[in-house]
Amino acid sequence: MKTKTVKKFEMAIIAHDGKKAEMVEFLNRNKHLLISENIKLIATGTTGSKIENSGLKVRKMLSGPLGGDAQIAARVAEGKTKMVLFFKDPTSSHAHEPDISMLIRICDVHNVPLATNEATAQLLLLGLDDRV
Ligand code: PGA
Repeated sequence: MKTKTVKKFEMAIIAHDGKKAEMVEFLNRNKHLLISENIKLIATGTTGSKIENSGLKVRKMLSGPLGGDAQIAARVAEGKTKMVLFFKDPTSSHAHEPDISMLIRICDVHNVPLATNEATAQLLLLGLDDRV
């Protein structure tokens, strides 16, 4: 008898430097929703290292300024990444702003849920049940 392989729900996590502590705290608070074997976490490099330190399994892309946001945008476009939680820091400027804008645009093009602040991210996680 064939066993059905369940495709994992890939979720991308990104946090600007000024928001990394907030992201780690947020993920720890929501760990019970994220440790599902049906969810696969990916993250930009530095954010990913912080997530690993808090005990969650995550696949790390390049650091944001080196192309990590662009890699995640490509995965969204390819239909691999199904949700993006991106804690942007609106109080600082970023050399890789074009990549950030591209990621947001690609999420809109492909109708992929994107949270750019904690309150929205919380609502998306609470709505996960129907998707994973
Ligand atoms: P980082 O990238 O996780 O490697 O810091 C985040 C970003 O600035 O987009």
